[in-house]
Amino acid sequence: MEKMSEDVVLRAISHCFKCKLCAIADFHGSDEKWLALCPSGSYYGFNSFYSPGRFEVFREILSGEIDCGTEMLVKVAFGCQLCGACYERCKEVSKVELDNAELFEELRSVLAERGWLLDAHVRIREDVERTGNAYGASEKLEYPSSGDEVIYFVGCTARHREREISEAMVRVLNASGARFTVLGDEWCCGSPLLRTGQRDVASRLIAHNVEEIRGIGAEKMVFTCPGCLKTFKESYSDLGVELLHASEYINSLVSEGRLQPGKLKIALPYHDPCHLGRHLGIYDAPRETLELIGVEVVELSRNRGNAWCCGSGGGVKSGFPEFATWTADERVGEIRETGSDIVVSACPFCKRNLEDSGVKVFDLAELVSQTL
Ligand code: SF4
Ligand code: SF4
Repeated sequence: MEKMSEDVVLRAISHCFKCKLCAIADFHGSDEKWLALCPSGSYYGFNSFYSPGRFEVFREILSGEIDCGTEMLVKVAFGCQLCGACYERCKEVSKVELDNAELFEELRSVLAERGWLLDAHVRIREDVERTGNAYGASEKLEYPSSGDEVIYFVGCTARHREREISEAMVRVLNASGARFTVLGDEWCCGSPLLRTGQRDVASRLIAHNVEEIRGIGAEKMVFTCPGCLKTFKESYSDLGVELLHASEYINSLVSEGRLQPGKLKIALPYHDPCHLGRHLGIYDAPRETLELIGVEVVELSRNRGNAWCCGSGGGVKSGFPEFATWTADERVGEIRETGSDIVVSACPFCKRNLEDSGVKVFDLAELVSQTL
């Protein structure tokens, strides 16, 4: 969340040798087709929408060669899900860690300082400032509370859009006997603002949540939203609390004998959320949770570090809905290739965007709760 100096940005950009290998996965499909990795470049088609081109645009903005926020420039900067596929692939081929998504966030914050923002993202900021949540929802939704062993951080999407996920997680927590609480006045974690270059407002949200959390004294916090978890891990000061994704926490509850889920005995494809997989390196825990409840994981053609984004991240769903839908349609095609119209994921944004493109998505927490 710290501002990067121009020197750091320019040094990083100079390490990109424009090979463009970050555009494709590192294997051929069974029919010898190259598999695309970058939704932004694949959809818009111009080099400036792939990682190396966006780096050059950033360099030109810093050098003053570009001095005006045209519609196309704003699209180049914000028309990317920050999915991190380019980072993973680049790390593999160049052995250099370029932190592509962090650099693109920095680009956005440079544009934001100049007032070159998308109206849709300004509206999110206004909604958050007015209501404390990214959807501008005014209703106060209460969750039961049974103690202070663990805090369940619900997040805006599982609270106001995909409520079945938070309800399922509460059922799982209750079944395990975990003494849990939800913050009385939980605000947006700050992720939508950090991803769209609006760090100033994010800082205020973070300060508020830290205050709420410190008063409780829990040992653990559990998240059904990988975006919230990433933000807590990377942008919150050390709270002295263990931060866990729901899959990790559920697995520990089962291994401690506190939760006894049943077995579903089905095979389902699993979609790796970008924020959980590439950004936090959590690939195995959700697969282990599925195994615990008798779900055989069917791997999609692009999985783990090569997973194709659901389309909604990085402010794309609000800023460029057609691009978000196109990206989800691509993933849905891949899901259907497995013969399934159902997919499992572990992120409320993935559930929302993939369901908008016509498949049924179960969050892990929902599937676990169904076995109890
Ligand atoms: S793989 Fe890395 S070095 Fe090659 S173009 Fe992509 S970002 Fe640049
Ligand atoms: S973060 Fe994802 S969408 Fe953005 S340039 Fe990299 S691969 Fe493409």
